[in-house]
This record gives sequence, C-alpha cells and structure tokens, in this order.
Amino acid sequence: MTHHEHGQGEVVTAGPAGKLVVPDRPIVLFIEGDGTGADIWRATRPVLDAAVAKAYGGAKQIFWQEVLAGEKAFKTSRSYLPVETLAALREYRVALKGPLTTPIGGGFRSLNVTLRQVLDLYACIRPVRYYAGVPSPMKEPEKIDMVIFRENTEDLYAGIEWSANSPESQRLINFLNHEMGCTIEMSAAIGIKPMTERCSKRLIRMALKYAIKQQRPAVTLMHKGNIMKYTEGAFQTWGYEVAAELSDGVISEAELMTAYHGKRPAGKVVLNDRLADNLFQQVLLRPSEYHVIATPNLNGDYISDALAAQVGGLGMAPGANIGDNCAIFEATHGSAPKYAGLDKVNPSSLILSGAMLLEYLGWDDAAQHIHQSLPRTLKDRIATYDLARLLPGAKEVSCSEFGQALIDHM
Ligand code: NAD
Repeated sequence: MTHHEHGQGEVVTAGPAGKLVVPDRPIVLFIEGDGTGADIWRATRPVLDAAVAKAYGGAKQIFWQEVLAGEKAFKTSRSYLPVETLAALREYRVALKGPLTTPIGGGFRSLNVTLRQVLDLYACIRPVRYYAGVPSPMKEPEKIDMVIFRENTEDLYAGIEWSANSPESQRLINFLNHEMGCTIEMSAAIGIKPMTERCSKRLIRMALKYAIKQQRPAVTLMHKGNIMKYTEGAFQTWGYEVAAELSDGVISEAELMTAYHGKRPAGKVVLNDRLADNLFQQVLLRPSEYHVIATPNLNGDYISDALAAQVGGLGMAPGANIGDNCAIFEATHGSAPKYAGLDKVNPSSLILSGAMLLEYLGWDDAAQHIHQSLPRTLKDRIATYDLARLLPGAKEVSCSEFGQALIDHM
C-alpha cells in the first residue's frame, strides 16, 4: 500500500449555494468494476496522477480510496452494492467507476441504474469531441465539440410499461378509452411518459450553468414538442423559464434577434431549441453551431451515441452521472468479460471520464494534459487493438502500455 491509501486526504464538501469545495488533497473514490474494469483502472490511475503532478507539481494530489461494488463486493459481503459503498458515495461525493456487469437472473436491477436512482444522479453528461488520429466517418470531425446533458430519471425511459394483452394494459386501456376519450386497441402494449417541471428544470439549469462557467456560446433544448406538446413541449417552455431565471448570463434566441440584432453580446449564453429530428441533421451538417445540448432522457440516449459515432469514439466516449450531492464519472462501455485480465482493451473511456472528473474538481489544467496527450499519442500511431486495426501502420500496445504512452506524451 502506498501512502495514498492512508487517509491523509480531505473530504470534498458542499459550500454555500451547493458550490463544491475542493481541498488540495481531496479523497476521490473509485469503483474498479467487473470484467476489464481492473485492467482499465490499472492503466488509468497513473495517467490521472501524472496529469495532476504535471499541472500542479505536488501542490495538489488525489487520494484515491476504493469502494466495492459488483462482483468484487459480492465476494466479500454477499452484496453487489453494499450499504457502506452508498454511504461513502454520499459522504465523499466524487467517484470514478469502471463498468459493472449486470448479473443475469430474475429481477436483478442494473447496478448502474440503482446507483443513479438511489443517489439521484439526475444528469447524464456526455462530452463529445474529436481527437486527431481517431478514424471517423465525418469529413470534418474536428468541428464537433459538444456536451450533452441528458435527463436521467424520467420520460419513457423510466420503463413504466405493461405488455400487450396483460390485465394491467387492458385495465389502463379501458380507463383511457371510457374515461379519457381515447380509442386505443385493446391488444396494445402501453408505456407511460412522465415528465415534471422540477426534473426538467434542474437538468436544464445544470446545462446552462455549465455553459456560463465554461463560456460556451449556446445551449440547445432538444425536444419533440410539436408532437408531444405537454411533455416535450413543456420541456421547451420550462427551459426558457430557467433562462429567464438566469438572465444575468443567458438570453433566448428570440431576444438575440430582437434586442441584439443577432449578434451575441460578450459573456452571454444563448438558449435556443430545435426539434429532435432536425437536430440530428443539424449536428451532421452544421456541427460547429452546436455546443451544449439539454434534452429529455430518450432523445438523449439516441443523440449521445450518434454523436459519439460521428467522432469515431463510441468505444472511448467518457461520461458522468451527476446530481446535486454526488457525481460518478464512468466508462460508458460495458465490462467486456471476454477480455478480462488480458491487459488488452482500450482504457481511454475511463481515462477521459477521469479528465471530466478533474474538470469537475476545477482542475482544468490537469485535464488539459490528458486532452493534449491523447491526440499526440494517436498521431504517433500508438493504439490498443480496437483502434490499431483501423489505423494503417499502427503500433498495437497493451492497455497499460497505452496508459504509459499517454504519460510519455504529456
Ligand atoms: P461491452 O461494452 O462490455 O462489450 C461489447 C464489446 O465492445 C466487447 O466485446 C469489445 O469488443 C468492445 N469493448 C468494450 N469495451 C472496450 C474497451 N474498453 N476497449 C476496446 N473494446 C471494448 O458490452 P456487453 O458485452 O453488451 O456487456 C457486458 C456487460 O457489461 C453486461 O453485463 C452489461 O450489463 C454490462 N454493461 C455495463 C455498463 C456500465 O457499467 N456502465 C455499460 C454497458 C454494459
């Protein structure tokens, strides 16, 4: 054990107005994860520590503390998600997490979903940017630099549904047809789309505050309000209400046209909105016009993967699930069990999630070292097997060697 584990670190706390207070030696939790989780964590930690050392020369340092979840937890405590782990996540607030296998067997809920719900991690955040050297289907993938804020708790995605011809769906259809004026076929399956002002607004508020802080030019509400007026349409309405609340830093697209003749005043974020189908073509045809996207759960699911594919980075896309009291940064791929222990897979998703974590702590300089060394490493055609097979003349390296190469290129 190194001195890192001996608890000289300090707890990250919440200050006034929920603002994070980050000590110079914060304790950050990690969940290694199942399958390839141990491989990618072993490659990731030295990269993050090196980036912090490079940026702050010893003035700042992360104290990593392991908490157990998944198979590793089950082995010692017969629980996949021990109460101690949840208590630690609540106390220490910031964590980096590898992939967790969803054990197959009746009625077992995904640990990832459970974590999101129990800790109310209501925003799923996916930054999408292009790293030079990654094979992409786009002609100019470098024009893509967006961050998606996807609502994480409600919408059709909450999974409230009943199968076709079940007593439940028939009971609901009877009610809808007889009391609500609907004409639904009795044999239909039924799903419910709940969306609240509270959950929509807190998600949009987080996206707008992020854009203000990061000086992004615009936030786009992605919705299908022309068809689903009272859910997705309300999302749009609530979005502009949040913009009015934050009027020091935000103007609406309508105000931009009427009050500013279409020229964005310095320091203001523009809030606009686009119908979901239109936005899919816009991010293909005019990607440089979009910066931050705030969207309900289901749209967010689709656009996250579509955009990740546009930069060629589906396998290395980073992500985070964030609430008001806790933030978990995670590899977005699964545990790829067939490669477990082979030191083979690409650790970039976890490493880039770690870079997001550094930015969340306010340690942007350290994150920059990672954002710069990744394209340098790929430019030297050093890559794990997944990218090496797509890069002509590439030198294939192991998972841990790729981590070391990133450090060497800082
Ligand atoms: P997976 O992402 O684990 O693997 C699918 C394939 O993607 C792999 O066979 C491999 O070819 C490739 N791949 C995945 N990670 C890679 C990496 N780091 N580098 C290079 N290639 C990589 O998806 P799956 O097989 O559908 O799921 C396996 C398990 O993971 C399941 O139990 C699933 O529930 C779980 N899962 C967890 C998360 C999470 O923790 N967030 C996400 C998705 C799936």
